[in-house]
Amino acid sequence: MSIAENIQSIRRRMDEAARAAGRENEKILLVGASKMNEAAACRQAIAAGIDALGENRVQEMLGKYAEGAYEGAPLHFIGHLQRNKVRQIVGKVALIHSVSSMELIDEIQRQAEKQGVTQAVLLEVNIGGEESKSGFAPEELEAAARHAAKLPNISMEGLMTIPPIQTVPHGNLPYFREVYRLYIDIGEKVFHNKLKHLSMGMSDDFEDAIAAGATMVRVGSAIFGARHYI
Ligand SMILES: *Cc1c(COP(=O)(O)O)cnc(C)c1O
Repeated sequence: MSIAENIQSIRRRMDEAARAAGRENEKILLVGASKMNEAAACRQAIAAGIDALGENRVQEMLGKYAEGAYEGAPLHFIGHLQRNKVRQIVGKVALIHSVSSMELIDEIQRQAEKQGVTQAVLLEVNIGGEESKSGFAPEELEAAARHAAKLPNISMEGLMTIPPIQTVPHGNLPYFREVYRLYIDIGEKVFHNKLKHLSMGMSDDFEDAIAAGATMVRVGSAIFGARHYI
């Protein structure tokens, strides 16, 4: 199957999941997680109508960016972000999904101000409480959202989550539902219901994420094929 065929088939499954959840009139965005795939693969996904491409590693992203891999689609950053790399991505990416600490919020503000831009961000929620994952604990989220909302060069647009690895089918559904609840709650309390994006769901569970209220899914291997780790 080609990248274009994979994207078509994922769109169909997304539409099906949205219809089953009574969300057929909402636009749910498909973000291609293009890590470890070359510029040519990114271009094929863009030609096939992907809504955005998401990268995980700053170095890899900058290399592919220089090759023009992302021309024609918004570029997102979805991976773990180190503070000292913020400068390299602010202003280049349309959305940072993975803002996981107060220090990162402040550094994004600092760099965005320097460049005279507004940077759109999502706050990452560590919904499984996993030591190995970054992200705010649910109880830290409101304070972080209030802080981000006050900063002039940050546009705080929603939440993102990566739940624990599933061990049973639909195992992540309760996590997705919990993050949706937080998304609605924070949206009401802090943003007058104006949050736009709830980024959750990957190749193995995007349909469950849509059932739970995702507005954006991040799909890698189901589009680009299995990744070859070097
Ligand atoms: C790689 C990646 C994805 C996509 O994972 P697949 O299982 O290949 O669909 C989604 N989100 C993040 C943050 C990723 O790093």
